[in-house]
This record gives sequence, C-alpha cells and structure tokens, in this order.
Amino acid sequence: MVPEWPVALLSDPGAVKMGSGRPSRPQIIHTSQPVPMSQFPDARFLLSANAPGQFVADAGSEVAVAGRSNAGKSSAINVIVNRRQFARTSKTPGRTQLVNFFELRPGQRLVDLPGYGFARVAESVRQHWGRLLQAYLEQRKSLSGLILVVDVRRGIGDFDRQMLEFAAAVETPVHILLTKADKLKRGRAAAALLGVQKELGDTASVQLFSALDRQGVDQAREALDRLLVARRS
Ligand code: GDP
Repeated sequence: MVPEWPVALLSDPGAVKMGSGRPSRPQIIHTSQPVPMSQFPDARFLLSANAPGQFVADAGSEVAVAGRSNAGKSSAINVIVNRRQFARTSKTPGRTQLVNFFELRPGQRLVDLPGYGFARVAESVRQHWGRLLQAYLEQRKSLSGLILVVDVRRGIGDFDRQMLEFAAAVETPVHILLTKADKLKRGRAAAALLGVQKELGDTASVQLFSALDRQGVDQAREALDRLLVARRS
C-alpha cells in the first residue's frame, strides 16, 4: 500500500528563504567551465505532463528527481547531465509544476518532478500537484530509482520523508544529494552527511554535492547510472 499523499505539505509556510532580506533571484548554475564529456550526449527533452494521461509510454527505465523548491534540483540536474537545456526547460514558466520527461539514452529517462514546499500557490493548484505526483509515483512501472535533492543546511524535511516513504512503499531505491555543500565548511558538511546517513540507515545512499564547485559530480553520475539499471524488487 502506498501512503496517502500529504497534499497539505505541498504548501509549506515554513518554506522561507535562508538568510535575511530580499531573496536573491534564483539562478540555475550552468556548466561554464570545461567539464568531462557528457555521459548522455544524445539526451533530449521529451515532454511536460500535466496529467497522468500525458506521461510518456511506460517502458524502459527512468530515474525521477525530486526536491523541495530552491533546494538546487535544476542546478544539480544541469551539472550531472551536462545539458543546459534540461534545467532551462524545467524552469520555463508554466513547466515548473509539471512532470518533465527527458530521454538520456534510448530506453532510459530522467524525470524532473515538480519542486515541493512552494508557498503562495492556490489550494487547487497544490491539490493538483499532489495528485499528479502521487499518480506518477504509484503508476510508473519504469521508475527504477529516485534522486532526492536536499539542501545540506536544511537536512531532511517532512516532505522529503514522505518521498522516502513513497519510494519504500513502491520498492524504489533512493539516492540523496545533499546540495550546496560549498556553503558549509568541510567539517560541518561531513557532520551533516554523517547525520543523514545515521538517520536513514540503509534506506538510501547519500552524498555531498555542489553544483557550484562540482563536488560529488562523478559520484552522482555513478548513482544515476546505477539507478537506471536498478530493478525494483
Ligand atoms: P530548484 O528550485 O531546486 O531547481 O533550485 P535551483 O537549481 O534553481 O537553485 C536554487 C538556488 O540555489 C539558485 O539561486 C542557485 O544558484 C542556488 N544553488 C543551486 N545549487 C547550488 C550549489 O551547489 N551551491 C550554491 N552555493 N548555490 C546553489
């Protein structure tokens, strides 16, 4: 049985930006320096779905990427896949609340799920996201893994926990990226990693990641490849 989707959590009044003053305009971090060649040279955007009937054919395997809004999901995808177009597409107005499908290789996809914890959205919109996410997670036979993007300074939140529960319910392996690791001193980042590893035990693999200084990119690429071929038990 899949747990009921906590639609209420999609609007999180505590979803305030870190720091004080006016929040800075979000900027996706792109791959500006020379980086190793993409493992996915032929990756391409497939479509954005607003209803389960629009999902791409449920064949092959796909890894979904989820995370609280502003956790750094788009930047992480961009750096891991080395495809600017991916993150741009997902951030196109009107697409941030959709399920965005990308082909990585023939028969292998990455699915960018809507960010959660967005304040200031209408109840009806939140309900719609909740149902869309729930439908996706419950129905996709090709879902072979989940990457959960978490701001290392915030740690695992309520909604992240719900995602972990969902993944466990549908027996899908999870890899967690603790993003923005560049914002913490080494010791504190290492302590945060250890804390999450202790908290989750063997329910998920966890790593430190930074789109800004490319920390953990190879490890994340390996995890993505591993999840793409993982078999749900
Ligand atoms: P999303 O809403 O989860 O897709 O998050 P974005 O990728 O748009 O990033 C949200 C904000 O965090 C943006 O201002 C990014 O520039 C910033 N950001 C993302 N990843 C990193 C990172 O690894 N390090 C730092 N310092 N900032 C980051």
